[in-house]
Amino acid sequence: MPTHQEIMVALDRVGGVAECPSCGANEWMGMGLGGQSDRLYLLTEATGAEEPGEASGYGMHGVYCARCGFVRLHRLDSLGLE
Ligand SMILES: [Zn+2]
Repeated sequence: MPTHQEIMVALDRVGGVAECPSCGANEWMGMGLGGQSDRLYLLTEATGAEEPGEASGYGMHGVYCARCGFVRLHRLDSLGLE
């Protein structure tokens, strides 16, 4: 799984590292669930699954502005990181 730093490099490659639209700072922090990866999973559609583990979704990475807390989400497959 990619690290926050690897994801930020991939974002930079596509021009996705920019100033915060809320406060103008440019210091983005990973918003993960702990462990070695900052990856998050976001369900995107109803699958009819009865158990949460049966549902599918996209790998996502959340970042937040260190100054004001503004939050962004990026799909990892769009960055070539799936
Ligand atoms: Zn900000």
